[in-house]
Amino acid sequence: MNEKLYIEVILPVPLADSYTYSVPLHLQKNIVPGSLVLVEFGKSKRYSGIVAYIHTITPITPYEIKEIIAVENEQPVLRRPQLRFWEWLSQYYLCRPGEVYKAVLPSGFRTESATTYKPKKELFVSLSSQYGQQDSLRIAFDKVKNAPRQEQLLLAFIEYTHDHTPLKQRSISKKDLLFRSGVSDNVLATLVEKGILHTEEKDVSRLNNYQHKLSELHLLKDFQQKAYTEIVGNLREKDVCLLHGVTASGKTEIYIRLIAETLKLQRQVLFLLPEIALTTQITSRLKQFFGDQLGVYHSKINNNERVEIWNNLLSDEGYQIILGVRSSIFLPFRDLGLIIVDEEHEPGYKQQDPAPRYHSRNAAIVLATMHGAKVILGSATPSIESFYNAQTGKYGYVCMNRRFEETELPEIFPVDVKELRRKKKMKGIFSPLLIENMKQTLEKEEQIILFQNRRGFAPMILCKICDWTPKCRFCDVALTYHKSIHKLTCHYCGSTYQVPHVCPECDNKELKSQGFGTEQVEEEIKSLFPHVAVARMDTDTTQNKKNIESIISDFEKGNIQILVGTQMISKGLDFNGVGLVGILNADSMMNFPDFRAHERAYQLMAQVAGRAGRRKHQGKVILQTSHPEHPLIQFILSNNYEGMYKLQMEERSLFKYPPLYRLIEISLKHKNEVSLKNSAEKYAEMLRMSLGDRVIGPDKPMIGKIQSMYLRKIILKIEISASLNTLREILKETQNRLLEDVVFKSTVIQYNVDPV
Ligand code: ADP
Ligand code: ZN
Ligand code: ZN
Repeated sequence: MNEKLYIEVILPVPLADSYTYSVPLHLQKNIVPGSLVLVEFGKSKRYSGIVAYIHTITPITPYEIKEIIAVENEQPVLRRPQLRFWEWLSQYYLCRPGEVYKAVLPSGFRTESATTYKPKKELFVSLSSQYGQQDSLRIAFDKVKNAPRQEQLLLAFIEYTHDHTPLKQRSISKKDLLFRSGVSDNVLATLVEKGILHTEEKDVSRLNNYQHKLSELHLLKDFQQKAYTEIVGNLREKDVCLLHGVTASGKTEIYIRLIAETLKLQRQVLFLLPEIALTTQITSRLKQFFGDQLGVYHSKINNNERVEIWNNLLSDEGYQIILGVRSSIFLPFRDLGLIIVDEEHEPGYKQQDPAPRYHSRNAAIVLATMHGAKVILGSATPSIESFYNAQTGKYGYVCMNRRFEETELPEIFPVDVKELRRKKKMKGIFSPLLIENMKQTLEKEEQIILFQNRRGFAPMILCKICDWTPKCRFCDVALTYHKSIHKLTCHYCGSTYQVPHVCPECDNKELKSQGFGTEQVEEEIKSLFPHVAVARMDTDTTQNKKNIESIISDFEKGNIQILVGTQMISKGLDFNGVGLVGILNADSMMNFPDFRAHERAYQLMAQVAGRAGRRKHQGKVILQTSHPEHPLIQFILSNNYEGMYKLQMEERSLFKYPPLYRLIEISLKHKNEVSLKNSAEKYAEMLRMSLGDRVIGPDKPMIGKIQSMYLRKIILKIEISASLNTLREILKETQNRLLEDVVFKSTVIQYNVDPV
């Protein structure tokens, strides 16, 4: 065959969707779509790229078509459905395949990254070949019968490698053997010298091995069994089912049941969580039933582990279940039968920066179709989008409104802090009712959760005379005061600043702090209850996963009485001893200028309230607000999700918001504000020519400058029924025309489809 073979390669380079290379004869047999190849790009750069497809059409181009240098992995690193999924992602989320590639493929596979994957090595102990039979083993024991420690080690070897493996094939890691036998290194050395045992270095997996016996599945309660049966029924007709179950109703137990059923069919399960903090609790719950069939994938595992999980899934005996955060939808699944999206309402499922700005729940539903898999969305407070899809019959819907232990949902007491302030009864952050309840709860030896959705000590510092407030030099944002480090920090770019002593505007020395964050809550607790153990959970105290785990486990064990935290504590954690939850400032969440603010505030408050009294006792919630009569607060007090939903839908229909319309947010960025203003106005004007009043803006966002780049936003409100293909063409073509003009050329334009 003389025909020349060409491939289209996806590279992490932002110029084209793919790049054409030719394949030399000796490499042709190794190439399939999904292969990883090494190519030269430009004069001197080398990249690893993914083969998207193979063809024999000689490209018409003035450039020389280069040959690929090598095929990098014997096996392709992607499975077929993944390439289709990448294509869908880049089309729907308006980004390049190369951006998907960068976000998705573990950098350990790629040559241009400094860290390449190295297998982990460990010493393993086995029997020397002449002792690998029952008879000869007796001879070995004879040889050590006067050396008790050597005998002990040999016995341990037999005991701890005991399974159905023949003697000569048994081996155990040296570390493990020494630990289990309790003898020292030099005893082992002697046995090796005597030629009885033998050690050898082997590659080991970094992935843990589960040592315990698997448990039997729990029996479901009647109401759970009923919900389970309804789900299975729903999934016969529909691809997606929303499980709307109050906190602690046993949603996780139902997932476990569905997982077990899927495994019986030899199909895989993906279990998605919105947040790394939740993986620990669920991992141990799942391991108990599924052991080593379960793999865990999240952003804090290192590059080597990432490659190992990826390779594991590429093999045919890979994991049956993956538990992971949003990016696990990209793993090379063989045959997914079920995807579970737990806490489906969480905004953490949306990737913000960099592209692809995908929504993992929505993308998972598309991924499921490609595998012919079913999807369960679970939440106590569903997103308006999913509830709407359930109402219109697109998704199945199953509700559980009882708790497993039959405890009532917590009772919620509103406190009017505005009224208390007027009467001068509010000293500091806590209302008298909250303080009183904290005392009682501590006396009963129950635990307390205090929720304040702001970290730091005070959200801002203010001059009492001229209202001056310090802002970030790079972002148009008020700085937050962090008392523990005595610095001001910007929550957008992370810059820190000294705390000023005088107002630079009017020389006034009286600068005071405004509002409060979790750090201040913690401090006030410590002065109110000096002998009580307090911990704080927010992004400042949980820089790594270990910290999160230790806070959660200390709280579980009762080593912490009061846990103060931001929205991190509202998410699906299952604690037993919480008698009281305090919501310290409901208003700041409700006043956030975003069309989802009320939905979000409802979800946060209902979720955090749900942490109270999960077992045995009914819990109590104290909700501090300046507007107790507000409809949203009323919906929370009466646990009326549907009331909240109806009111929100009225607003969304009036103002053309999702789920009735599709939003696309276009961000324009530039170092120079005037250039930015001009290009943003020009772009909006050009878009209006084809899209009319679907184009809103440009507007200066609430934060008009981030990391020295000025910002403008254009919003598109598009009918759900409109063709995305047409829209994509319009955007592409209009953007190209805009950027042709040298004046606008250096404007950065980014798209965010379905922003959250
Ligand atoms: P949810 O996911 O709805 O918040 P969980 O599944 O975490 O609820 O259930 C709450 C608690 O009740 C968990 O500790 C769980 O182990 C327990 N539980 C729920 N259902 C059962 C059951 N059928 N058998 C045993 N324990 C259960
Ligand atoms: Zn001043
Ligand atoms: Zn900043």
